[in-house]
Amino acid sequence: MWPWAHAALGYLAYTLYLRGRFSERPVGLPVVALGFGTQLPDLIDKTLAWYVGVLPYGRSLAHSLLTGTVIMLAVVAVLRLRGAETSGTALAIGYASHFFGDAFGSLVSLSFGDLVFLAWPLAPSPSTETVGILTHLRDIEGSPLFLFGLGLTVVGLGLWYRHGLPGLRELVGLLTSEGRSPESDVE
Ligand SMILES: [Zn+2]
Repeated sequence: MWPWAHAALGYLAYTLYLRGRFSERPVGLPVVALGFGTQLPDLIDKTLAWYVGVLPYGRSLAHSLLTGTVIMLAVVAVLRLRGAETSGTALAIGYASHFFGDAFGSLVSLSFGDLVFLAWPLAPSPSTETVGILTHLRDIEGSPLFLFGLGLTVVGLGLWYRHGLPGLRELVGLLTSEGRSPESDVE
């Protein structure tokens, strides 16, 4: 699944969680943490596999239900220690949705053998892989999964807009060093 579709899937999942549990909608810094969580598995694995060369595959360490869950819990623990419990929950939901997003295509096509990345390092990684974000961007084609991801992105963007673009102001503030610290979790 492409980054924009992961972000949209995470936003939809987080919205459902907040609506179901608290009858609230997403706000502030937790949405930034959510977005970061939706991208974190790829940021870790693609970087370490494609550009550093210390991982065998772009879906391994941080994509595994075994090791990835440990990484997710460690990041959540750090946020909790810093008093950003709500952001920790949002990040965990975003991270968990990434597992599902990357497994989705294999699940609907019943290609269960492609789900071995979820069991890394117990299951071996595929021996070949298309490496590099630019290569992937160049190879984009209108597959049903890609189009589904685009549709998901449109729905997610529409919902985010309807909610008043929560997290955008905080993200801009963080990027320009004017934001509040993670300790100032917006509940
Ligand atoms: Zn991924």
